[in-house]
Amino acid sequence: MFDHSVHDSRSSVEGADDDNRESTTAVRLEGVSHQYGSTGGRFRSGDERTVTALRDVSFEVPMGTIVGLEGPSGSGKSTILHAVAGLLVPTAGTVELCGTDLAAQSDAERTRVRRRHIGIVFQRFHLLPSLSARANVALPLVQEGVSRPDRRDRATTLLEAVGLGDRITHLPGELSGGERQRVAIARALATDPNVIVADEPTGELDTATGADVLELLTDIGRERAVLVASHDESTLSVADRVVTLCDGQVVENDA
Ligand code: ADP
Ligand code: MG
Repeated sequence: MFDHSVHDSRSSVEGADDDNRESTTAVRLEGVSHQYGSTGGRFRSGDERTVTALRDVSFEVPMGTIVGLEGPSGSGKSTILHAVAGLLVPTAGTVELCGTDLAAQSDAERTRVRRRHIGIVFQRFHLLPSLSARANVALPLVQEGVSRPDRRDRATTLLEAVGLGDRITHLPGELSGGERQRVAIARALATDPNVIVADEPTGELDTATGADVLELLTDIGRERAVLVASHDESTLSVADRVVTLCDGQVVENDA
């Protein structure tokens, strides 16, 4: 289903082996713990309420594999994805992306790594409603300084690869849920990232549409690393390995 010609071997996290994505450990978590609210955040200062979301979580996602994260609501799946995506720095432990320790980087550097090397797919798509499918897909390339014609070409190629070549000028509101999620996947691939994190990517979709999205993720996982969180059996069935969480702890890791 997915046309691999859109995948080039250009990008790689600095320090990673450019010629051999497959043998690299794309993502490594070591002893990761996280407490929300411990540094203020949305809690009033002096308020002792904290939430321990992760406790000593360790696992790896090798290049070329799909790892599923399963666990009940509140078990810490999204927190792990955010830590891997560099959207939060965990209170303890190490998150490495292709050998690079994210916590050791400045905020600016972490943002740069996230934009270039991580593709994020959300449950509710997060497309900009006023932009066409093509403009949504091209958006991550604006920050990368890619020229407008090149952005349009790349976005068109990616939309064709996810089977939406006839929808490039449609607005998100003119697309079905499954089509929107395919646009979001195309957008996640825009910078040719090593790693795709997907948080409940089929949560809003019916079974048949969800299956199309999973087939896409399966194809993508052959050449990249995919970390997909879900509590849905069919989503987890596409994973090469499943890490099971309960109360922020890994209770099973079939790796
Ligand atoms: P899941 O994705 O498995 O449902 P989350 O990672 O979203 O789990 O949440 C793990 C725990 O952290 C839950 O107890 C949740 O309430 C809490 N949590 C998540 N985000 C925040 C936040 N921004 N502030 C405070 N607590 C949070
Ligand atoms: Mg979640």
